[in-house]
Amino acid sequence: MAAPKGPEMSATSDLAAAIDAIADRMASTTDRGRPADYIPELAKVDPNQFGIAVILADGKVICAGDADTPFSIQSISKVFTLSLALGKVGDYLWSRVGQEPSGDPFNSIVQLEADQGVPRNPLINAGAIVVTDVLLEGCEPRETIGGILRFLRGVAEDDAITVDPDVACSEQETGYRNAAMANFMKASGNLVHAPEKTLGVYFHQCAVAMTCRQLAMAGRFLAFDGRLCPDGARIIPASRARRLGALMLTCGHYDGSGAFAYRVGLPGKSGVGGGILAVAPGVASIAVWSPGLNTIGNSKLGTEALHDLTEATGWSIFGA
Ligand code: GLU
Repeated sequence: MAAPKGPEMSATSDLAAAIDAIADRMASTTDRGRPADYIPELAKVDPNQFGIAVILADGKVICAGDADTPFSIQSISKVFTLSLALGKVGDYLWSRVGQEPSGDPFNSIVQLEADQGVPRNPLINAGAIVVTDVLLEGCEPRETIGGILRFLRGVAEDDAITVDPDVACSEQETGYRNAAMANFMKASGNLVHAPEKTLGVYFHQCAVAMTCRQLAMAGRFLAFDGRLCPDGARIIPASRARRLGALMLTCGHYDGSGAFAYRVGLPGKSGVGGGILAVAPGVASIAVWSPGLNTIGNSKLGTEALHDLTEATGWSIFGA
């Protein structure tokens, strides 16, 4: 008889066994990709690590590997800041940033210039810098970073989440491409604040450190229609959660978004720290982490693990 797939599987210990098997497989894989080195602090992270955490609709948490080791969430922060910015300014945001997949690298300057300073979507660097600029309006940088942290701690139900100052500093010292894009957007009239002010907040949000367990907890509202669990506290309207999911699916892995949708079939957001947050709508919030990246800048083993997970569970949004 075939192993149970889909929501039925979540009710069985088969899921825990499948996740353990994935973690074992990832632990013994030798071709692990390379940690990001353009942010010197990230290059120091041991690539021989892999963690996974899955949180089900009933609150059950299943973890394996290095699920409790903190890592730099980097661009995964963009989903949370986007959620906050949409709450703050609503559809006005879309006059400053697009909703289309970029098809170009996450830090493409060429594309930004071709688009006249209006970034293609909010999940590439330029778009996320505009989102951060929106969050800064009416606030000081310290308050803005505090607001982002408060939101993350609230949705993860964990006050231990914090910014890694070494990573923030490392990026501040070397983030020349981001500075180029922020300056270009300022020149194009699409940045309200001084580029260095907006970038300071952006680098700090990217430097938030979280574990897979914390990240999967924080992603629940994206998996469960804007609530922490199907009948739990509402964080954002269901319509916003749906739209964030759409952007994660189409833009969450940069110019690897199509391949990720093809192989994994879940809305997801990656970060160059090697983490990926993925959601199986109505079923689970999932975080994976392995520091080695593929050539596009997405976690190599994280992607493979999510592929194996959706194969085992039938959780792809396109069906089992
Ligand atoms: N902080 C990184 C940067 O701006 C984020 C990139 C990523 O995680 O994809 O380059």
